[in-house]
Amino acid sequence: MQLAAIVVSLVLAAVGIALFARAIAQIYRFVRLGQPVPEGLRTDEPGARTLTVAREFFGHTRMNRWGVIGFAHWFVAVGFFALVLTLVHAMGQLFRADWTLPLIGTWAPYEIFTEFIGLMTTLGIITLIVVRLLSLPSRAGRKSRFAGSKAGQAYFVEYVILTIGVAILVLRGLEGALHGVDGYEAAYFVSYPLVAAFEGLSVSALQNLTYLVALIKIGTSFVWMIVVGLNTNMGVAWHRFLAFPNIWFKRDAQGGTALGELRPMVSGGKEIDFETALDDDNEEEVRFGASQVEDFSWKGLLDFSTCTECGRCQSQCPAWNTGKPLSPKLLIMSLRDHAHAKAPYLLAGGGKTMEGEEKATDEQLKDVPQSALDEAERPLIGTAEENGVIDPDVLWSCTTCGACVEQCPVDIEHVDHIVDMRRYQVMIESAFPSEAGTMLKNLEKKGNPWGLAKKQRLEWTKELAEATGFEVPVVGKTVEDLTEVDYLYWVGCAGALEDRAKKTTKAFAELLHIAGVNFAIMGGDEKCTGDSPRRLGNEFLFQQLGEENVATLNAAFGEDDEDESTKKPASKKKIVATCPHCFNTLANEYPQLGGHYEVIHHTQLLQHLVDEGKLVPVTPVEGLITYHDPCYLGRHNKVYTPPREIIGKVPGLRNEEMHRHKERGFCCGAGGARMWMEERIGKRINNERVDEALSLNPDIVSTACPFCLVMLTDSVNGKKNDAQAKEDLRVVDVAQLLLDSVRTPGDDGGSSDGPSDEPEKEESTEPEPAN
Ligand code: SF4
Ligand code: SF4
Repeated sequence: MQLAAIVVSLVLAAVGIALFARAIAQIYRFVRLGQPVPEGLRTDEPGARTLTVAREFFGHTRMNRWGVIGFAHWFVAVGFFALVLTLVHAMGQLFRADWTLPLIGTWAPYEIFTEFIGLMTTLGIITLIVVRLLSLPSRAGRKSRFAGSKAGQAYFVEYVILTIGVAILVLRGLEGALHGVDGYEAAYFVSYPLVAAFEGLSVSALQNLTYLVALIKIGTSFVWMIVVGLNTNMGVAWHRFLAFPNIWFKRDAQGGTALGELRPMVSGGKEIDFETALDDDNEEEVRFGASQVEDFSWKGLLDFSTCTECGRCQSQCPAWNTGKPLSPKLLIMSLRDHAHAKAPYLLAGGGKTMEGEEKATDEQLKDVPQSALDEAERPLIGTAEENGVIDPDVLWSCTTCGACVEQCPVDIEHVDHIVDMRRYQVMIESAFPSEAGTMLKNLEKKGNPWGLAKKQRLEWTKELAEATGFEVPVVGKTVEDLTEVDYLYWVGCAGALEDRAKKTTKAFAELLHIAGVNFAIMGGDEKCTGDSPRRLGNEFLFQQLGEENVATLNAAFGEDDEDESTKKPASKKKIVATCPHCFNTLANEYPQLGGHYEVIHHTQLLQHLVDEGKLVPVTPVEGLITYHDPCYLGRHNKVYTPPREIIGKVPGLRNEEMHRHKERGFCCGAGGARMWMEERIGKRINNERVDEALSLNPDIVSTACPFCLVMLTDSVNGKKNDAQAKEDLRVVDVAQLLLDSVRTPGDDGGSSDGPSDEPEKEESTEPEPAN
């Protein structure tokens, strides 16, 4: 028995370690196939990065949001590393059953630690197994976050851990019996019942049992290592190792999620300069986005390999939850499996030029397996008939809401990868949903998505002046430049041109006036910030719009681009925006174009004005309200509290949260340029969101984004027509609610829309977005 156990264990260990070492080298070479990233981007602040890894690992910061699952996983993860010494111990036990680790083997604190972690790892993995079994895709369908995950691999890993955990405790029991423990001892506080159970056995029986259980423990461990070593794309196992570098190299060294800004387009590790990128005499081959899997950066390839297939991203994805083909998990898995299958071809020097010609010689490719050559022929984006890796419907279903990124426990940057693929499709292939083309053309010609004349941007000011007598200050007209005011109010295209959004604009301007805030708006020369084209993948158009806006803004703030002495710090260039998309672009993306401003959202300023007593909500607004978090305000910029605080200050309102709120808020369906595309597959996302709101039977659905306002209003109006929503249900921006409450009953001020707490009845007369 002993000899057989030793031989089998040593053979498995030797094979396992060799294959595992080979796999690490393969993964290293595989990841290096990706494109370089700009210098320092992923390696700045090494100390902060290390702290971030420690915080995320020991704090299990994402997983712990999932209650008991995070707790259970913590012990499984920590146990994996903490119990390595038990493997060494088991090896020694094969040679001498009563062997213990030198120095610490019989040290009570170490023994207690081993027993505790062994027990908790076992209980932890049982919990995770039960969670998986309770949510099998066969029972829960799309509701299961495991739908599409490789169940066989997950079961294998889970049962390996369970076996090892149980073996550790049994070995402890045998150790106690062999060492003559004859009463309860703290060092055996978990395994003492086993010690007692083994008490009557002979020494040789105890020894043989020790050899057998040690063999099971060692054999299971190294069989796991062999399987994992042979499957470098087995994310459910490899995430244990790859999560550490993946988190260390994340976008934000301080630990923030890869949300908010999109990164500029990069080729060969350098930001693309569109002025020279397309020149014929430009010798460098410029890659626009990702057309092949090797076009992703090495961090992208590391991301794909790290996915543990937990499905947390999928469970939050609005596209997946409304029956669309996109699941962020399945997308990452598809990219991973494709990349790994194609890797032998790429490692042999294979690859295609931008013109589609093969770079490698026949000699280089002669030993590449046919399966890898076949994989290399698959288009990255293509339908099932085209044998594509990612279906176009998957690519275009994304709203860039960021729910996936927010939830991913190993910090995968889904949105960046999706946008990179869109960039190639839009900029090189011109392959994108045709409806979005109208928006792009309008932006190119008129600077706004509706294609309206620029003078219409100021129409709302006239309407407000007629209703209230208040003339909104305009830069270049009423005020010379923005040095005379405290805030530039950036109205945005929707806020200036879309009827429903204009109500928010007017309400906010009136509130600023009431509070005595010294502000002004741009005079109509401003353009769309470029949020939609950028998220659609048209980086060129984004840069064009952005650069024009930055020049216009800097000039409005009294800066002369030619004269350094006129430059002002961001704190002297304050902007308030009612649109979270504008807010995000101005605050987080314009610095990439040389525009540095201090930008806040209107709910933040309103909260401040209420707190300062400059706005006093007095008039009750009766009813049950539920607040919808705009993704680009909440998840992308972490502004959750101000809108709720304002609602809380309005007398009469009773606030009730929807099930999915704050970090887990559910998109309205408009982000990622989806506002400008038809929604042909599955249930409409805005209807799903409104159904959730309706389950609370609210009187008011509130939000803080013009896009959300339009999407939710559309859905509510449709449901009113179908008698699924009560006629007096309103969808309003937080600013409108506050204005209603700030006004006193005798106050005859008001916008031309009449009191904004009137039920929303009229249809928009402005050109509508595609959906
Ligand atoms: S960003 Fe939102 S819509 Fe896009 S994949 Fe992630 S969760 Fe789904
Ligand atoms: S991408 Fe992240 S959240 Fe989604 S399945 Fe993979 S590890 Fe889980």
